Amino acid sequence: MKANEIITKLQIKYTHEPEFVQACMEFFSSIAHIYDAHEEYQQANVLERMVVPDRIITFQVPWINDAGKVQVNTGYRVQFNNVLGPYKGGLRFHPSVNVSILKFLAFEQVFKNSLTTLPLGGGKGGADFDPKGKSKTEIMRFSQSFMLRIWSDLGQNIDVPAGDIGVGKQEIGFLYGMYKRLTREHVGVLTGKGIDWGGSRIRPEATGYGAIYFLERMLALQKDTITQKRIVVSGFGNVAWGVVKKAHELGALVIAISGPDGFIHAPNGLQQEHIDFMLELRSGNLDIIKPFADKFGFVFTPDKKPWSIPADIAMPCATQNEINEYDVNQLIENNYSYLVEGANMPCTQAAQEILKKSSIRYAPGKASNAGGVAVSGLEMTQNAVRYTWAAEGVDDKLRRIMAEIHDTCVLHGKISPQKIDYAAGANIASFVKIANAMCELGV
Ligand code: NDP
Repeated sequence: MKANEIITKLQIKYTHEPEFVQACMEFFSSIAHIYDAHEEYQQANVLERMVVPDRIITFQVPWINDAGKVQVNTGYRVQFNNVLGPYKGGLRFHPSVNVSILKFLAFEQVFKNSLTTLPLGGGKGGADFDPKGKSKTEIMRFSQSFMLRIWSDLGQNIDVPAGDIGVGKQEIGFLYGMYKRLTREHVGVLTGKGIDWGGSRIRPEATGYGAIYFLERMLALQKDTITQKRIVVSGFGNVAWGVVKKAHELGALVIAISGPDGFIHAPNGLQQEHIDFMLELRSGNLDIIKPFADKFGFVFTPDKKPWSIPADIAMPCATQNEINEYDVNQLIENNYSYLVEGANMPCTQAAQEILKKSSIRYAPGKASNAGGVAVSGLEMTQNAVRYTWAAEGVDDKLRRIMAEIHDTCVLHGKISPQKIDYAAGANIASFVKIANAMCELGV
């Protein structure tokens, strides 16, 4: 079967999973011609096999709230593809979580992980649980119940989850504590752990740092640097924090940042005291941006996205499909030169099509936000040899991995010395690697 037939079949079969279809369509648009040109891929039917997860585990998560009432949520783990290594990908706790969203995230994770050069397969999981407004003990009871129902499907060589939206060090701690109690094993079955109980240095910052290292490499290719570049960031979570921290350290100016409640404008760029307060707000489970504006006297624009602010670089770090056609046209009108994704699939399909025709240099999350999982892979290595590397060592490895991912995208996505299709480069490089491994390992 040719790629087009597989695409049509997939669109019909999964109309009820729009995010998953969107991620597949974006991927197919770059690799269909390669699939069609390789008889051995068609013989092994790699494309049809690539779009079906190995396994989706769905389970009930009952827990008791502080008022003594029993609550019920739905938990999931999508183990998508382990041809390169153990399933690896975060857990998301957010009310919007459903099978379509987790399948799109797990599908993208397979290709992202292959780009890191580390031996990692791809998966994703989570629950429709909202940690916002919950007490610490409620989050603990929920996390423990979640682990009680999924632990036997996990393992340091089988499936290694990490954090994502709504899952940070605190949730990983509760999940890991329960796993340890159930198995009596202290092993690297989760990443994003606290530094004193098996975590890696630089892991909390890794996704944001990695995105900035990727951006630096894009700029270097154009004989430019990050110094004094004006950056606008969306999202007020873990990834955004890492981006702001490293951008500030390297002399760039983050002049606007948004949260779910609106955005603030900081024309002189966010400074260290702002970054510290960002962390303080987040650790109190208060990841809205209004208190930030109130404390420092920034202009606050409620319920709006930040893309109306003219700048050089856009870094969406909130969630999927946050940038639509209107937003991308705003970026073009405001003369942005780069869009580097910190979030997963933050641009809608229509926005991506406009972007590709524009002069904005566009880095897809699959490549530019791979720093998080890369350091998770390094955490697994440290756990396996029972050792902890210094921050400099991890940071250096992260920088090298991001440079390698960048250069791989350039190798496979170069249109001319000035024009690189980073999305095509990332898709082609990862597709070929996984397709070849699937052929070599048999059906
Ligand atoms: P967090 O939960 O730490 O933060 C996400 C933040 O963005 C929350 O404050 C959330 O608020 C906010 N947000 C949600 N929707 C919007 C919106 N439309 N506009 C502005 N803000 C919004 O998550 P992470 O930082 O970990 O993850 C962010 C993105 O990065 C996700 O796409 C994730 O998949 C991706 N990613 C994360 C990695 C990691 O290591 N953590 C690794 C690679 C990718 P609210 O809760 O109210 O919706």
